[in-house]
Amino acid sequence: MNYKEPESIGKKPREIGTDAIEPVYAEALAKFDSDDKDAQFYKLYSQLGSAITDINGIDVGLIENLLIKICLLLRLSKAATKVYKNQQDEEAGICETLSCYDNGKECVPISTLRLVTSIMSIATITAYMSPDEPPLTEDEKQKVDLVMRTILSFVSRNRLQNAVYELAYFDEAGYPNLRSWKTYLFKSAAENGFHGKLAFRYNLRHFSLINQEFGREIGTVVMKSHFDSLKEIIGENGYLARLGGDNFLGMCTTDKTRAVVDYLTQTEVRTPKGIGVNISTSAGFYRVPDNPDIVADEIMGSIINAYRVAQNGGMDSIVFYDESFLEKKGRAMKIQQMFPEALEKNEFRPFYQPKVNVMNGRLVGAEALCRWYHAGKVIPPVEFIPVLEQTSEICRLDFAMLEGVCRDMRRWADEGKQLIRVSINFSRKHILNTYLAETIAEIVDRYSIPHYLIEIEFTETTSEVELSDLKRMVTSLRELDFSVSIDDFGIGYSSLNIIKDVPWTTIKIDKDFLPDNPDDRQSVSSVMFRHVVSMTRQLGLECISEGVETQQHVMVLCNSGCDIAQGYYFDKPLPVEEFELKLILGKYEIM
Ligand code: C2E
Ligand code: MG
Ligand code: MG
Repeated sequence: MNYKEPESIGKKPREIGTDAIEPVYAEALAKFDSDDKDAQFYKLYSQLGSAITDINGIDVGLIENLLIKICLLLRLSKAATKVYKNQQDEEAGICETLSCYDNGKECVPISTLRLVTSIMSIATITAYMSPDEPPLTEDEKQKVDLVMRTILSFVSRNRLQNAVYELAYFDEAGYPNLRSWKTYLFKSAAENGFHGKLAFRYNLRHFSLINQEFGREIGTVVMKSHFDSLKEIIGENGYLARLGGDNFLGMCTTDKTRAVVDYLTQTEVRTPKGIGVNISTSAGFYRVPDNPDIVADEIMGSIINAYRVAQNGGMDSIVFYDESFLEKKGRAMKIQQMFPEALEKNEFRPFYQPKVNVMNGRLVGAEALCRWYHAGKVIPPVEFIPVLEQTSEICRLDFAMLEGVCRDMRRWADEGKQLIRVSINFSRKHILNTYLAETIAEIVDRYSIPHYLIEIEFTETTSEVELSDLKRMVTSLRELDFSVSIDDFGIGYSSLNIIKDVPWTTIKIDKDFLPDNPDDRQSVSSVMFRHVVSMTRQLGLECISEGVETQQHVMVLCNSGCDIAQGYYFDKPLPVEEFELKLILGKYEIM
């Protein structure tokens, strides 16, 4: 027989002996002569009864052994059980066959029993005899019938148990479910604890797009394949379950961290037709501390917190919920709380970083970069911009910066200083604001600053949807005569469409793209830099290089035809008073 046992039932092989027999029978059975077939039968049958109802667990080997003996005793040559999932399967002959004894000789069926369970699964059992064997006596027939009924009810009970187990621990698509995950956690807690374990929760990003593009059926195959491969990476000492939809829960040993994170960051899964589909996830990880008192609920709470941040955080799609995370989170919450009051009190002010024409040393423009004056300190933007980007507060800050710049420019104009163009960074969070250009114009007009002296910087976008919004936004700003630049060009993954489709005035090449050595004209970065500059100029756009720190860099710019530089070589971002001195001077020494 090959009964599939539910995992919940323990197994313990055991010797055949009278200890397996119900005590009430033991005494009576002992009286029978071992040559007495009747006694032998009842002894075996009694042992069978004990074996299939053993509360310590079912021993399949023992049951098989007893059935073989019973078949021999009753002169049967074969006994076979068939289990059908439902009536349709029975009609189609689709079943699982369990043969408890087969002597391999020619035989004919002599009796069949059929049982329909409460979940409508069907089981049958058939006994066979050799045609040469004398027919069964009435007494033997009754015994065969008794054993058949016993086996049938045992098999049905087992099937029911399996069905209940599957219903309880697996979802309709066959993935282990939340209950199985919790059972795993409780079992681990009771057995070895969570020493060296990493728990995580993740969501497949944009999986509905895969369903839309390839159809649900292929989506299902892709998801299963993604799941199976991760399960393989996790290996024996871990677990993976589905929370529902495209949400999953997992646990692995910490030595698998790198492999699991890499897999969840980006993986290509092939559809049945061989098309590669990229799957990335938002995932929250939690390294379970080496604390024997840690309970399953705490693990769940921590991975869910980490996952929430990964989903909504904006910056990272993979988040580790550890000490440094909690510290970062605490700081972020503090910044968010302090922001409204700080804005009200004008604590955010522009610093100005000069932009210089490397051909003649002229100061041709500046970038306004935000600094937070708080409690006698100046806080740099890396500390607060990413936090404000998580909500839409960044938009309020950008407008405040624009207003601050306009205020300074108005004063410079009133003091008779030469005005130069100033650029202000605008977050991508503005992208859905269809009134952005009008709002900017309204602020700039309040200070009577000519629009062409204001430049708005946007960073690259990543998706097609955003590209069309970006195009609309930049077009409407250009219509109002503002300058618009693409910031940090080259570090993102967007295509050249971003240049073709959007009417920029200026391309700001990111500092990572700037080659260090002007003499090395053959290196990849050198060739790329020259070509980006030349393309920009041929398209009639302005080109600025960021991060110009050395004389070598200035040489690179001169050799490549990029005439405008911004960087520490000339100046860091300066407080307004210092910048005003540069404005009066209006010129830099080049070399
Ligand atoms: P960004 O717009 O690309 O600004 C350039 C950054 O490079 C500035 O950092 C600047 O100080 C730095 N930088 C300038 N020259 C050099 C150089 O020669 N070498 C090196 N290594 N770095 C140089 P900062 O001021 O810390 O600003 C960082 C980022 O914060 C900005 O990058 C911008 O994305 C963002 N940011 C700053 N102010 C605002 C703001 O008002 N609104 C928004 N939305 N973002 C802002
Ligand atoms: Mg910028
Ligand atoms: Mg930049």
